[in-house]
Amino acid sequence: MKKEFVIIGSGLGGLSMALRLSSKGHKVTVLEKHSTPGGRLNQLKMDGFTFDVGPSFMSMTYELEELFKSCGINQMPVNLQELDPIYQVFFAQHKRPFRIFKDLKKLEEEFAPLEPDLAKKADAYLKRAGEFFHDTEDKVVKSNFDSKLQYILKLTGVPLKHLPYLFRTMWSEVERTFSSEEVRVIFSLVAFFLGSTPFQTPSVYSLLNYTEMRHNGYWKVEGGMYALVEALMKLLAERKVEFAFNTEIVKVNENGGKVTSVTDQNGKEWKADIFISNSDAASFRGQILKRKNFTEEKLDKMHWTLAPFTIYLGVKGNIPTLMHHNYFLGSNFRGYADTIFTSSISPQKPYYYVNVSSKSTPSCAPEGHENIFILCPVPDLRFKPDWADREELANNIIDDLSERCGYDISANIVTQKILDPIDWAKTFNLYKGSGLGLAHDMDQVGAFRPKNKDEQLDNLYYVGASTTPGTGLPMVVISSRLIMERLGKEYGIV
Ligand SMILES: Cc1cc2nc3c(=O)[nH]c(=O)nc-3n(C[C@H](O)[C@H](O)[C@H](O)COP(=O)(O)OP(=O)(O)OC[C@H]3O[C@@H](n4cnc5c(N)ncnc54)[C@H](O)[C@@H]3O)c2cc1C
Repeated sequence: MKKEFVIIGSGLGGLSMALRLSSKGHKVTVLEKHSTPGGRLNQLKMDGFTFDVGPSFMSMTYELEELFKSCGINQMPVNLQELDPIYQVFFAQHKRPFRIFKDLKKLEEEFAPLEPDLAKKADAYLKRAGEFFHDTEDKVVKSNFDSKLQYILKLTGVPLKHLPYLFRTMWSEVERTFSSEEVRVIFSLVAFFLGSTPFQTPSVYSLLNYTEMRHNGYWKVEGGMYALVEALMKLLAERKVEFAFNTEIVKVNENGGKVTSVTDQNGKEWKADIFISNSDAASFRGQILKRKNFTEEKLDKMHWTLAPFTIYLGVKGNIPTLMHHNYFLGSNFRGYADTIFTSSISPQKPYYYVNVSSKSTPSCAPEGHENIFILCPVPDLRFKPDWADREELANNIIDDLSERCGYDISANIVTQKILDPIDWAKTFNLYKGSGLGLAHDMDQVGAFRPKNKDEQLDNLYYVGASTTPGTGLPMVVISSRLIMERLGKEYGIV
């Protein structure tokens, strides 16, 4: 029987969910607090420049293919382009950047003479990480769990040889494998994609090295990442999915263990048979459902990923030293990583990521200009609630970037916008400005992560970054599939 669904939030999680459900003929309404769809995967247009607001690449693109195929769409509605080299890294102690290639021979040449036998060492490292990835992808990442016991039993099916991964940090794993600081840093940078640092992230996540460097690689969407949201919106319009923007859900109304309706900020009630929240699965339970396990005090004690400090610059001229993806690192990796999470002051020598999508999509900037997106991971609002120094931090980063890429960016800025963690928190309801949601420590993944089905309300589910399996674009697409599996079992929806 066809059902009526309300989805709260139009991030990639909410949109994938809407596509899966509407493709099966269900009636779907999406309620979004922001004025545009996409959530963190959003777009900003200013003075002839177009920017992707958050994500700038994705891995595991076969998850997108699965999404579209399972909805009867056999031709991918977006073109994906693999990044090669994947990115380049500027170290403070070296004049030239280092390009990161999937081809290990090329990578070895790039790092000669710093890391002898790099190709051989990296090959063994990636082989090990790959085995772990394939031994856990279906069993752990792509599974629903109804209890912690069930999860632990599933884990016992993972070959014992992977056990040491649980007890080492990512940094100690790279330290055992590589001898140069530079290569260790390169192989541990992926920890930042999880919104954490390699000194805190368990080495199980070296599987991300495998996904970036061997398995599927990194991809961008032709025309900019937002082209994915535009393609989804077109498919959803064809399937008659309705959207209400500028609509924030502030209350959940229940009766007899079921949600009967949700109420928006204007007091309007929205009814449905089944509700799916794409709002953060932990903070929604605390702030909207007032659950005692998710009070502010308890939420604050959880481990949240770093907050984004982002700068969008329209710049006159072309900057040949920058590529699509660039990392700018300082000289004190460990000291920086150790303090960045909990500091109440802005970093003095910030580490940051720079994306220039006009390099491959010229329509993102007027002719003879570049669009520059800078992302600096910073402490969230629990540790640094005051961002009055935002201009100072932005200028500090822009000056550093100008010096290191050999181009006077400050003198050529045509347009500029800064989003600090307060902006990120307000715009998308991100808890205390945390950019990627809940972190992925062993006690915050699998059955220990907020569940995708509500504990008390039978017809309420959660999709997105802070529920299972985790954060990142492919993960939230998987999370929508996991809900379909539950709906299949519980409502016979297939
Ligand atoms: C700066 C930055 C860079 C990133 N880069 C990458 C990258 O390169 N690659 C990658 O794979 N991942 C990246 N990520 C992570 C990725 O963006 C997220 O994991 C993913 O987009 C999360 O999707 P989601 O659907 O779970 O949530 P969101 O995108 O946050 O969507 C949730 C939606 O719900 C809405 N909402 C919330 N509460 C309510 C409410 N009460 N009522 C109505 N609406 C509500 C929000 O406004 C939002 O639109 C990045 C994240 C950030 C912040």
